[in-house]
Parts: sequence; C-alpha cells; structure tokens
Amino acid sequence: MLKTPALDTPALDTPALKTPAIRLAGLRKSFGSVDAVTGVDLEIADGEFFSMLGPSGSGKTTVLRLIAGFELPTSGVVELAGADVTRRAPFERDVNTVFQDYALFPHMTVVDNVEYGLKVRKVGRRERRERAEAALATVRLAGYSHRKPSQLSGGQRQRVALARALVNEPKVLLLDEPLGALDLKLREEMQLELKQIQRQIGITFVFVTHDQQEALTMSDRIAVFNAGRIEQVGTPAEVYDQPGSAFVADFVGTSNLLRGDAATAILGEDGCFAIRPEKIALGGEPEPGDVTATGRIVDAVYAGSTTRFVVQLDAGARVVALQQNLQTSSLDVQSYRDTSVTLRWRREHTIRLPA
Ligand code: ATP
Repeated sequence: MLKTPALDTPALDTPALKTPAIRLAGLRKSFGSVDAVTGVDLEIADGEFFSMLGPSGSGKTTVLRLIAGFELPTSGVVELAGADVTRRAPFERDVNTVFQDYALFPHMTVVDNVEYGLKVRKVGRRERRERAEAALATVRLAGYSHRKPSQLSGGQRQRVALARALVNEPKVLLLDEPLGALDLKLREEMQLELKQIQRQIGITFVFVTHDQQEALTMSDRIAVFNAGRIEQVGTPAEVYDQPGSAFVADFVGTSNLLRGDAATAILGEDGCFAIRPEKIALGGEPEPGDVTATGRIVDAVYAGSTTRFVVQLDAGARVVALQQNLQTSSLDVQSYRDTSVTLRWRREHTIRLPA
C-alpha cells in the first residue's frame, strides 16, 4: 500500500533537515607513514554535547585539530554550519579550543587573560571588560578577575581557560581532555559544571576524552574511536546497552564476552555475546527466562559500595560479576573465595555482537 505523502514529509524543523554544526566527510589524515585518521564520516548537530571517546592513539585529537584547522586533512571535507572550511585557517573558523594544559598567561590577571582574544581583535576597552566579566560570571568566577593564575586552584584555572574561549562567542567549542589534569573528585564536579554551562549557553561542545565514565556522564552522543576510525556513534545508553562490536563492549564499561563452546553450552547458540558485570546475580532462585551458569569464585574484591567477583565457569569462560554490598561487609567477601556458585542473568541482557 502506498503511504500518504504528507505523512512521509518531515516538518521543516526536524533535526534531520537542520544544517549540522559540523559535518566531516571521508576525512583522512596521515603523518608520513602513520595513518592517524583513516576515514571519518560524522555529523554533529547544533547545540549538541558530543564526545569523541577512544584509547590513546585512536585519532581523537587529530580529528579535533582538523575541525579547528590546526591540521590539513590528507583527504576529505570539514564543514561548519554548512560551509566548507577545509582550507580555511583556524582564525577564519567559528570555533574555539580549550586545551588540557590551560595555556594561560601567568603574568596576566584572570580578566586580562580572558580579554586577550578580544584585544587582539581590536574590540574596544569597555566592551572587552564587560564581555570578559560576563564570561567569568558564566563559569562562576565573578570576583576572581584580579587574581593571577598562580593564585587559583586547578579547577578554577580550567574555568578561566573556558571563559577565555567563551568570551569569543564561538558557535562551536572544542575541548581536548580539558579535565585531564584534575584529581578525580574535582574532575567529577567539573564534569557536571561543564555540562550545566553548555546547557545554559546552548553552543555545540565537542569533547575529547579517553575516560568512558566521563563520556557517558556528559554527552548527548558519543563517537567511539578505534585505530583512526569510528566504531560506533550513539547516545550513552545506546553505546553502553547496545555496543555494535566487541571493541565497544569492552572499551565502554567492562564486558564479559562469551563465544565458542562456552556460548553454545550456556546460551544454546554459537556466536559472540557480551554481558555487563552488573547484570549478573550470584546465587538465588532463577526466574523464568533467566540464563544460568555454574562455576567457582576465583577472586572477590571488596570496593566499598560494591564487590567484584571473578568466576571461572564450568563451561570454560571466566566472567566478572559486580554486586552491590547491600548486606555484605569486607570480612564476608574473604569467605566467598573458592566456593561454588550459580550465576544468573536475564536473557535480554545478553548482547549479541557481530562475529
Ligand atoms: P591521546 O588520547 O593519547 O591524545 P588520540 O586518540 O587523541 O590519543 P592522536 O593524538 O589523534 O590520538 O594520534 C593518532 C595517531 O597519530 C597516533 O599514532 C599518533 O602518534 C599519531 N600522530 C599524531 N600527531 C602526529 C604528528 N604531528 N606527527 C606524527 N604522528 C602523529
């Protein structure tokens, strides 16, 4: 049956029809014999918080530098807001970059650091000061204008670097591991703050990180990089719950992989399957539809709120199960080692991966 054309025609404001903030097509970059980026096609929507996640050397920073214009691609196209900027210099692109090492001028005050870009662009003194103070207020540093960078904490310095980029009012902000130098607690605080600032000002953020937790916490969508190309693009829930490859299943979170004889014995089918450690329960009565597997606990590691059990399955594979310590204490954990156990999980939590 023919569909009604009217229903097939998307409304003009559907995201698919909006010009993306960034479009990369067939992007490649080689440095001599090193193929850093081996074919990236990607669209990032206006106002998106987009993360590029992947191990060291997978090409994330190179893609960021290609967007910024610090590198020229070996082949392919970079578009910003629909315009081909592939051959344009960095200052001719409506983007700003925040680096991990802040790159603040140590001899200048905070407000002078923030104003600097505007001064170079010959913006008048008064407007400069107003915009710099407004940018400092956005990053919650009003009142810190006259300090020197050395009189600030790491998190505050990072926020000055952010204000210095925001003061230029770019359409796109590129962030290269901006929280990499901070300790874990501050890093987690800044993750929430960055996300809040991005929501408040509504510009596109492209965020490079190798920390999967960080990417899952902050992003609207994530591209997972592996060896110079993108393995998967999706929302945090898609990438975590429906990994498209063994690499993604393993890199984003921890995954247990079942394949070959172990898969056939436990799941009744051959192939490659992933199960997240937190989906596996130890002992207890299986419910209809549960998968079960017997084995021996070879290690149990107490980590405060959770315990991590390593179980050698009778069918051959070794899996990790993560349990919340609702009742368990660190002393109980010792006694679990080298005991027999039946693992169970819901069949729908078994993710089939491409072979
Ligand atoms: P990291 O998380 O460590 O920053 P990354 O995923 O950002 O890694 P890139 O910095 O993009 O990776 O590097 C990708 C590959 O390109 C690596 O093998 C790297 O050594 C190489 N590379 C990057 N820049 C250059 C350069 N200027 N000259 C030669 N090789 C380079």
